[in-house]
Amino acid sequence: QVPVLTIDGPGGAGKGTISSLIAERQGWHLLDSGALYRLTAQAAIKHEVALDDEAALAELAASLDVEFPVSDGVPQVLLEGQDVTRAIRTEAAGERASQVAALPSVRTALLQRQQGFQQPPGLVADGRDMGTVVFPQAPLKIFLTASASERARRRHLQLQEAGVDASLSSLLKEIQARDARDMQRSVAPLKPADDAITLDTTRLSIPEVVDRLTELLAQ
Ligand code: C5P
Repeated sequence: QVPVLTIDGPGGAGKGTISSLIAERQGWHLLDSGALYRLTAQAAIKHEVALDDEAALAELAASLDVEFPVSDGVPQVLLEGQDVTRAIRTEAAGERASQVAALPSVRTALLQRQQGFQQPPGLVADGRDMGTVVFPQAPLKIFLTASASERARRRHLQLQEAGVDASLSSLLKEIQARDARDMQRSVAPLKPADDAITLDTTRLSIPEVVDRLTELLAQ
């Protein structure tokens, strides 16, 4: 069995950064499952499919034409050959992703594609339901959290660095709204797997979290 490390949790807890650092350190593949939901929503806009047309969205999700090339060490995302790296990272794109992710047939359509990332020598899978639904057999499951205000603060900093102006209070509201939708949906709601280890990163630095996970992997 190819080893899988699942890292689930709410948005802004540091999953993306931590997952890619661990994958790099281990020399393992990386699955950014959120990107697949963001890409499905992006494809819907492109093909003028309504965000509540479940059958059409599932069709789009099943036939997503995406590539994840690395150019000069910077990972990129191509949808039907078009660079959407930045377009899928906006708050609005996250909100649309969370809408399509609440639809059961969209989740089913993306399941096999996600499981296909389990290739030697190993996989770090980043998402909301990696440990509960997609890789229930994973030997190490992490649930990464941080307080909503800390996650808003981090997001604010990230946006500032990118030169984007946003108010902290509106970011906090967006984060809380997305958490609520992700936790309350009927399929694959955001929650730790029964056998997951929960790590609260509110007061931890990125290197501290990476070290802790590397230790757990070595056990
Ligand atoms: O992690 P990211 O912010 O890119 O995810 C965007 C949205 O996609 C999340 O708010 C969530 O609704 C959905 N998602 C999901 N299951 C995953 C990953 C993401 O439902 N495994």
